[in-house]
Amino acid sequence: MSQAIELTRDLISRRSVTPADEGCQTLLAQHLERIGFVIEPLPFGNVANLWARRGDRRPLFCFAGHTDVVPTGPLDEWDSDPFVPEIREGVLYGRGAADMKSGLAAMVTAAEEFVALHPQHSGSIAFLITSDEEGPSVDGTRRVVELLQTRGERIDWCLMGEPSSEVCIGDTIKVGRRGSLSGRLTVHGVQGHIAYPQLADNPVHALAPALAELVSRSWDQGTEHFQPTSFQVSNINSGTGAPNVIPGELKARFNLRYSPVQTLENLKNTVEGILRRHGVRFTLDWYLSGEPFYTPPGVLSSAVTEAVAEVTGVPPRLSTGGGTSDGRFIAPLGAQVVELGVVNASIHKVNECVRLADIDALQRMYCNLLRRLLV
Ligand SMILES: [Zn+2]
Repeated sequence: MSQAIELTRDLISRRSVTPADEGCQTLLAQHLERIGFVIEPLPFGNVANLWARRGDRRPLFCFAGHTDVVPTGPLDEWDSDPFVPEIREGVLYGRGAADMKSGLAAMVTAAEEFVALHPQHSGSIAFLITSDEEGPSVDGTRRVVELLQTRGERIDWCLMGEPSSEVCIGDTIKVGRRGSLSGRLTVHGVQGHIAYPQLADNPVHALAPALAELVSRSWDQGTEHFQPTSFQVSNINSGTGAPNVIPGELKARFNLRYSPVQTLENLKNTVEGILRRHGVRFTLDWYLSGEPFYTPPGVLSSAVTEAVAEVTGVPPRLSTGGGTSDGRFIAPLGAQVVELGVVNASIHKVNECVRLADIDALQRMYCNLLRRLLV
């Protein structure tokens, strides 16, 4: 069994439910220290972060990822203990198998193999690992990036090991992500008897036409590389429980996934404008999870494409779909950011798994990438 698979199993057996790290980073750091990385643990609050760097020249190539995993969900729905790695018919099961402990193991073992072959490589290699990607993402990558900025340490190329593949390993890489903007809406009405609507003001009725316009609106056409912007309601609540009472208030939550065609101000103004035009009385709190980012075709995306095709024989599809990732914090540093990892079909589900052959394939892709960039 390869070292990448052994290391993946070792990581899965650590119960690192976000934001816990449970020694995963120490284990990775031990591997990296042995091959000449300078190790810097950077804890913030209850979050463990690791910055490790080999070399002080540029360009700086950085592997990025996370050791935390999402909760298991109902244990009786798993066919084996999510924190006891189990192999059945060439597939490794366990929480974090795909998202993203196999990715971390592939990166670290790729660095080991590469450094053994090319101890005098050009540029530098770094690892930016956090235990707060699945949680609030406040004390994780964001904080480490702030620190790097104050030190003037620049990342030129960043490869995130998030599970980017859809059906086969290496079929898809991500070259950007849409932005994510959420709103918490309260619509103010006047409570009253349902038989005397003239004495009340029904917030459900007030919002309905505005909501119809928001959900049916065509926000933009997207771009060649981005899907169009979408508006989705995630929660809506009103009513007192009594069938004869007009409610006094409505609460709703919604989210916009937006392409770089949009600006934050324009989105906010459009939503608020539609609500006002329909006479809705409201308060609205906005929360920005991440601005969109995009790495145009360049040195990194070509090198990743070739590194993948060397293993699979097929160049990957370049995508910007899916949710946000920690790339949103790294890209603003001016870094090119590309995501390449295992198949994402089972992530966050029960019986999360990864094919053993895919771990080894990913490890080879990462080795190829280091060779293409730093030899
Ligand atoms: Zn992940």
